[in-house]
Amino acid sequence: MAEGQIDVTKEKERETPARDGVAPITTEVRARHGGSGFVPPSETVFGLEDVHVYYGSFLALRGVTLDIGRNEITAFIGPSGCGKSTLIRCLNRMNDLIPGARVEGSIAYHGQDLYGEGVDPVEVRRRIGMVFQKPNPFPKSIYDNVAYGPKVMGLKPRSMGELVEESLRSAALWEEVKDKLKQSALSLSGGQQQRLCIARAIAVSPDVILMDEPCSALDPMSTARIEDLMEKLKQDYTIVIVTHNMQQAARVSDRTAFFTAEAAPGTGDRTGLLVEYDRTDEIFTHPSDKRTEDYVTGRFG
Ligand code: ADP
Repeated sequence: MAEGQIDVTKEKERETPARDGVAPITTEVRARHGGSGFVPPSETVFGLEDVHVYYGSFLALRGVTLDIGRNEITAFIGPSGCGKSTLIRCLNRMNDLIPGARVEGSIAYHGQDLYGEGVDPVEVRRRIGMVFQKPNPFPKSIYDNVAYGPKVMGLKPRSMGELVEESLRSAALWEEVKDKLKQSALSLSGGQQQRLCIARAIAVSPDVILMDEPCSALDPMSTARIEDLMEKLKQDYTIVIVTHNMQQAARVSDRTAFFTAEAAPGTGDRTGLLVEYDRTDEIFTHPSDKRTEDYVTGRFG
């Protein structure tokens, strides 16, 4: 591996050979510095530069520039419709699947253009997994839910049983399900299903886990378990979370990006934009923008 590059694939541990025909994603490390007082991530996983996202002719999000740090939890917060989900979906090219969705500007993943020629979106989604608002296990057994991803991706772990166990342990679910791996995943509670979805994401050895409102369908106890889990997971993964819940962002994240929607010059359409991005304690205690302050103090109108 060239100097200045890092191996994010974890393939050494799991012996998951590169798939035929998949363009390698190189992993050059790039550092960037924000404005005065801003402490940049020590290592950047995503570097976004002037990102605009359109749905057809509608500009949903404009001019987003930020760096997302490795082994950090980054929260996207802001009122409904400001483009948080749109942006998180850009980070693993899920928007490719939405007809008419278009991304302008640049998104670098470990220094490489995520939307560049030769980058395979399927490989991107293996490296950059996603957990959704509503737990969405397959109507299969608990075991098969976790084994499914590695199988369809053609990964060859030393032992599938070990990989399933390891993934369920990482998702803090193993002890609850180890005696009923053949039972349907749909028999689990909502909170357990969400941890199963996290195990499913982990099973394909990702580098990043994106979470789009992962707790919004869960009760407070299940939410607390997922939040505890996120804290552990960030030792091994980079996590980006969209949350409506400001307390959750304050509790779990290292950095917070606050977005809002305002009329775009010339069109009158309400378009999402990044207002402020900083360490989470700064955003919640010393926001530098009045709009952030109004939002985090509940005066948003
Ligand atoms: P948030 O996650 O902050 O609630 P979204 O990213 O869901 O915001 O939406 C941002 C804007 O993009 C909204 O105006 C929304 O109506 C629009 N939008 C989201 N998804 C689509 C889509 N698939 N097609 C067209 N417009 C969309």
